[in-house]
Amino acid sequence: MKYFNLKTENNFNSAILYAANVIKIGGVVAFPTETVYGLGADVLNEEAVKKIFAAKGRQADNPLIVHIADKNDIFKLAKNIPDWVIGLTDKYWPGPLSIVLEKQDFIPSAVTAGLESVAIRMPDNIVASELIKKSGCFIAAPSANKSGRPSPTKAQHVMADFKDEIDVVLDYDNSAIGLESTVIDGRGNYPIILRPGAVTIEMLIETCGYAESAYNKSLDIKKPLSPGMKYTHYKPKAEVLIVYGETSLMAEKINDLYKKNKNIALFSSDKLAEKTKVQKVITYQGINEAANLFYDALRLFDEQNIEIIICEEFDYKDIGEAIMNRLKKAAGEKYL
Ligand code: AMP
Ligand code: MG
Repeated sequence: MKYFNLKTENNFNSAILYAANVIKIGGVVAFPTETVYGLGADVLNEEAVKKIFAAKGRQADNPLIVHIADKNDIFKLAKNIPDWVIGLTDKYWPGPLSIVLEKQDFIPSAVTAGLESVAIRMPDNIVASELIKKSGCFIAAPSANKSGRPSPTKAQHVMADFKDEIDVVLDYDNSAIGLESTVIDGRGNYPIILRPGAVTIEMLIETCGYAESAYNKSLDIKKPLSPGMKYTHYKPKAEVLIVYGETSLMAEKINDLYKKNKNIALFSSDKLAEKTKVQKVITYQGINEAANLFYDALRLFDEQNIEIIICEEFDYKDIGEAIMNRLKKAAGEKYL
């Protein structure tokens, strides 16, 4: 694996050219995006795409998102695109919105896991877009973590999960958002949210007039709309428990647990952290910072061999909906 730090070394363009060439010749490159780090390969190269699945240990029925650097490439990759989808791409691309559409025939089934649809996104990150442009390819990329591990929001996380199974890591900025993109089904008359993210249902309703969520329902059904949703994602090694309610009552519960087990950690607001005796604490100012720190916190606590990570519940609004979706999976829906 070749590592480039694009921030500290004077090699921004040459590193991207190197990585773009690796994509062209069928290699696998980890690169920053504003959501999380991605692990990319040339969409048209099935062998390269298979390397992503092998490196991640990803199930073959879990499709990849195709990343583009020019909005108009949506027409090359998809057919029968509704007008409202173009309204959304005008407003939210580049950005954290992936859109599932009917795929054009040339897209290999290795990318779409045999589905007739393809998820497309235009990331909002200079390194990601330069890599796509310089490679001259569409880049298929899931998150650059081993399947089942928290998604990577820094290059360091990618390095912790992979060694020589991948060819290049481009280290640039930490992911500005820190949670994976919103995924919507764009094949009907309005957006159906398959995975919540930074583009919220309120934002979709504002642009399209109407939108629905399908991710809660599809946890139970045998054939989920988005195959990725049936897998237990985002699991740290520690047990994760969610705590909610009035601050002093939450603090009381946490302190009771701390009396029995000192090897616990807390991811919470300052207000709650101040009232507890827990020593290993990561706090945030507001919901956006919480989204940004969430996966990093899970990884840091795992490195410290913490047994139980307690996370304070978030309001189900703005990006809180997306954090709760990940947090509930990490916790297996368990509450303190
Ligand atoms: P990741 O990039 O690791 O966040 O995974 C991509 C997510 O997008 C997974 O949850 C996939 O199930 C979903 N996805 C990708 N392509 C499609 C598709 N064609 N239809 C439905 N969901 C998709
Ligand atoms: Mg992922």
